[in-house]
Amino acid sequence: MDKKNLGIKTRGLWKNPEYRKHMSEVHKGQRAWNKGIKTGLVPRTAFKKGQPSLNGMKGKKHSLESRKKMSKRNSGENHWNWKGGRTIKRGMHSLKVKEWRKEVFENFDFTCVSCGEEGGILRAHHINEWAKYPRERFDVSNGLCLHDRCHIDLHQGMIIYG
Ligand SMILES: [Zn+2]
Ligand SMILES: [Zn+2]
Repeated sequence: MDKKNLGIKTRGLWKNPEYRKHMSEVHKGQRAWNKGIKTGLVPRTAFKKGQPSLNGMKGKKHSLESRKKMSKRNSGENHWNWKGGRTIKRGMHSLKVKEWRKEVFENFDFTCVSCGEEGGILRAHHINEWAKYPRERFDVSNGLCLHDRCHIDLHQGMIIYG
């Protein structure tokens, strides 16, 4: 049956050194991206350096004003960091997921592993859960191509893969 053949195909990919190489490259990219996020925190330190000059001014009025200034600057900076980080993260992920999904579909020739039919509304399923295995999120060999309906059956435990 088609199902069996596809199963062998997937299992084979796990052992394929080219896929492993691809995996490690993907992870390298992720690490580099994380480093970039850390660097994004540097401006905060730069802001702290500016504080002593503000503290040097005595009197309640001044401290209140400087506090206002501080909070204004602080919130603005935080907001910028937060928004920037989030946008990059989201964009990167959605693009990666799109690419991953496409590769999974192509890997299975747009054929559902459950019923063996080609085409239709297809979904890419993660063999190892997205939440528990973040390292395998974009690993093509961790993906299964299923119909939308067959995918629901899989999650309800109606289809078992061994
Ligand atoms: Zn199906
Ligand atoms: Zn799924």
